[in-house]
Amino acid sequence: MTRRVVLATRNPAKLAELRRILAEDVDVADVDLVGADEVDLPAVDETGTTFEENALLKARSAVEACGLPAIADDSGLVVDALEGEPGVRSARYAGTPGDDAANLQLVLERLHDKPGRSAHFVCAAALVAPDGREWTTEGTIEGHIVDGPRGEAGFGYDPVFQPLGELRTTAEMEPAEKDAISHRGKALQALRAALLEL
Ligand code: IMP
Repeated sequence: MTRRVVLATRNPAKLAELRRILAEDVDVADVDLVGADEVDLPAVDETGTTFEENALLKARSAVEACGLPAIADDSGLVVDALEGEPGVRSARYAGTPGDDAANLQLVLERLHDKPGRSAHFVCAAALVAPDGREWTTEGTIEGHIVDGPRGEAGFGYDPVFQPLGELRTTAEMEPAEKDAISHRGKALQALRAALLEL
């Protein structure tokens, strides 16, 4: 039986990543992934103080709106020398939600006089079923912030994030290469078993 599951994000780049990662998995191939373009998703105030809380808020709100199981993620960049900023405020760090260029410039500016540049991405993924069952997972990827933006792929802070052991930023990698090591790839892989329980 085909299961329909909503991917609860209004960010087209993230939607593409979520689709790509889940479509790779043969076991979940019979899950019909419904994008935010096909259903009317309400805007959600991300009032949680953790990535997990915000992922749950978004997934619950989508279930309420559509009556279908929903997957949502909440993710961000955590920079050690900035005491964990931008963290849960990653999408709106410089003030305007979704202004990727301004956000990454602000990180570069604030790191300018700091000795260390270690950072990691975090992704919390949540699956919520209409019967109230909830699953959450988390994935991370370690790396550092480079001196200036490099690469055109991906979104957000990808042009300034270089994973540990890599010479390229995640914006210089092929999408499939990023998915194989990324925080989002890991969080969604871990959600597979739950998807099959629906
Ligand atoms: P969210 O939509 O509230 O989860 O916001 C996530 C924000 O974190 C994005 O807008 C990006 O700024 C940043 N971010 C999360 N994951 C990534 C990634 O894989 N690459 C680059 N930036 C990311």
